[in-house]
Amino acid sequence: MHELTVVEGLMGILTSHAKANAIARITSVHVVIGRLRGLDRRQIAGCFEILAEGTLAEGARLDIEEIGIEGRCRDCGQTFAVPGFQIQCPTCSSVAVDLLSGQELHIKTFEGKTLEDLGVEESAASTT
Ligand SMILES: [Zn+2]
Repeated sequence: MHELTVVEGLMGILTSHAKANAIARITSVHVVIGRLRGLDRRQIAGCFEILAEGTLAEGARLDIEEIGIEGRCRDCGQTFAVPGFQIQCPTCSSVAVDLLSGQELHIKTFEGKTLEDLGVEESAASTT
């Protein structure tokens, strides 16, 4: 399943960013996905739930922002929204089209709490 690989990748980025920011628990994640990626958002959400289990992201809310496909014709300069996966200029029928959007796949923002936020007292559990 393609979605699983994608979510695994996002999860890796997410947890490393969280750790770098001393985040102990991730509460929400905002992901941006271009339609060209051909990903099923329900499957993304499902994979996220499964993979988040037992990690800092367990129980986090996942917001998925889908970005439509937009192209610019190299021949006539027209910019247009691409309705499907057939990328062709609606004005001059050229297929020489630069894609302006639709290929996005990244974490836009995420929110979380540090141990301090969670009210966890510093434990004296230093084992040396
Ligand atoms: Zn054109």
